[in-house]
Amino acid sequence: MAKTKEFQTESKKLLDLMVNSIYTHKDIFLRELISNASDAIDKRHHYSLTEDEVPSADEYEIFIEADKENRTLTISDNGIGLTEKGLIEELGTIAESGSKAFLEKLEKKDLDIIGQFGVGFYSAFMVAKEVVFRTRSPFSKTGYEWRSAGEATYTIEEIDKEEIGTEIVLHLREDDEENEEHYSEYLEEHTIRNLVKKYSDYIRYPIKTEVEKTRKKDEKDEDSEIETYYEIETLNSMIPIWKKPKSEIEDEELNDFYKRQYNDFEDPLKVIHTNVEGRITYTALLFIPKKPPYDFYTDKFEKGLQLYSKGVFIEDKNKELVPEHFRFLRGLVDSADLSLNISREMLQHNRQLKKIAAHLEKKVKNELEKMLENDREAYVEFYEAYGTNLKYGIYDQFGAHKEKLQDLIMFKTSKSDDYITLKEYVERMGEDQKAIYYATGKNKHQIMNRPQMDTLKEKDYEVLFFTDDVDEFMVQILNEYDEKPFKSIQQGESDLLDDEQKDALKEKEKEHEKLLKTLKKNLKDKVKDVRLSGRLKESPVCLVSGEGLSLEMEKVLKQMPNQSGMQAEKILEINPDHELFQALASVHESDKKRVKDYANLLYNQALLIEGYPIENPREVSDLMVKLMVEATKSSK
Ligand code: ADP
Repeated sequence: MAKTKEFQTESKKLLDLMVNSIYTHKDIFLRELISNASDAIDKRHHYSLTEDEVPSADEYEIFIEADKENRTLTISDNGIGLTEKGLIEELGTIAESGSKAFLEKLEKKDLDIIGQFGVGFYSAFMVAKEVVFRTRSPFSKTGYEWRSAGEATYTIEEIDKEEIGTEIVLHLREDDEENEEHYSEYLEEHTIRNLVKKYSDYIRYPIKTEVEKTRKKDEKDEDSEIETYYEIETLNSMIPIWKKPKSEIEDEELNDFYKRQYNDFEDPLKVIHTNVEGRITYTALLFIPKKPPYDFYTDKFEKGLQLYSKGVFIEDKNKELVPEHFRFLRGLVDSADLSLNISREMLQHNRQLKKIAAHLEKKVKNELEKMLENDREAYVEFYEAYGTNLKYGIYDQFGAHKEKLQDLIMFKTSKSDDYITLKEYVERMGEDQKAIYYATGKNKHQIMNRPQMDTLKEKDYEVLFFTDDVDEFMVQILNEYDEKPFKSIQQGESDLLDDEQKDALKEKEKEHEKLLKTLKKNLKDKVKDVRLSGRLKESPVCLVSGEGLSLEMEKVLKQMPNQSGMQAEKILEINPDHELFQALASVHESDKKRVKDYANLLYNQALLIEGYPIENPREVSDLMVKLMVEATKSSK
């Protein structure tokens, strides 16, 4: 008796999408079923090595059978099969995160991405009106048949099935001439052959089918009648793509492999394929995805490369093979030098693996440098996706990797809307310029309008834009490049004054000592110091911080979960040549109260110009109103 069961809600959604799919690449269903079959064989093989109940098969194979009369396409394997419980859990629910992610994307109506996710078994419903899944697991005494028409329910019943493995029968949909959907095609030998070649050529087990052939009835007789006969043929080469000679692999093949294997819907930005022979022998096939995955910049993201030994899969995400700063790499390493029986723990300390990792890091770095030099456009695309990660790499481990990475980072600048490297910055620096200047801010507009830019504009010095939170933290570690120190235009004393200017400034400070003291007293809970500025031209005031923690870094630290409570030292700088200061100097002796209001306003003005929030907007607004009224009165 068949039991009827209901699909889990999410499964229903996915099924519904498959059944009503308007996606044009329906033919991916075959690669999905073949890939499941191959996984099932892998599992059986693995179990057979350790579990007595699981016998190995004489020859592992996947078989495709087309029955034109009954319009069925059957894909069978002698893999591990499924128990009754397995059928319910594996086919009735979606546990797999790829499918879930796919569903989420789809809710955003991005239909183009179907099939590039590992949507798996359910894709069969894109071409079949009914799917029958007959299976026998070595862990159960009988076989089971699962059956569904892709609606809300499925049935399961016990069946007789001798051999361990699975047989999936697809009852193909009727052709729909109007919409040009020709499901009968999938019953044609050439279609099957092409699909296997295109998507599943590298599968390590033979994918067989019975093919129709012709021959002369009598070999020796020239005029002999031709007869038709059938022969079983293996359709796939079984050579993993990375084992083929490079000259024989088309870019498109690599791109397809990447998309299928790593669930991306876009071609990779860069493919790095390398064969190394010598004291250590391995093949690596690495990809840089166009876009980082959504969780790339969180601690949920897991880096790692697949590890194979002589084409046999060992581990899915080997972390040892990729350093943090290149964690964006996807792909695989296949090395004959690694033993198959090696345990995960052993792998971690494996010397061979460490050597491979070191090679790969160098190789990737070289490839990136080449890209930077020869294909700037691609590098910029890469950098916009992963630049932040490189900068974290510099910051990480107290700068252990900074030498390797410092030539890979880029910035936009006050003189360039395109990214430039540090090397390029230094190369075009004038003789008189001693430091590499940078400014932090949200964007170009904000930075260019910073009062501290005045003198740099005047001197025609280029200023790097630090718009990424990590930038300033990174620069603390970097410290210098090509023996040139980094210097924030918003921190510490300005280093742009010559001796004469310095003396003049000192002179003025002396002259206005009292006023500065009064201002400082009035602002003592807001800033650490009030001083005259040598860096302002147009603006009356600006805020700078002391050396060490900057105002921007303070902001970043405050957003962190375990904030340290560290604070930047704020210093208010006043432009001694500005009219406002001169006015202030003239009233200061006569009107103490007004000076207090002015101090407060100046401070808030500095906050405003720098793009920091005003601490007490109401108070500031009241003050402004008061001063405006007074000014009007006195001008009457
Ligand atoms: P995925 O393969 O990504 O896990 P699928 O929807 O393709 O998702 O398959 C769901 C599950 O069904 C698989 O994880 C596997 O446990 C089981 N399955 C599918 N096809 C087979 C098969 N041919 N033999 C054994 N188990 C299978």
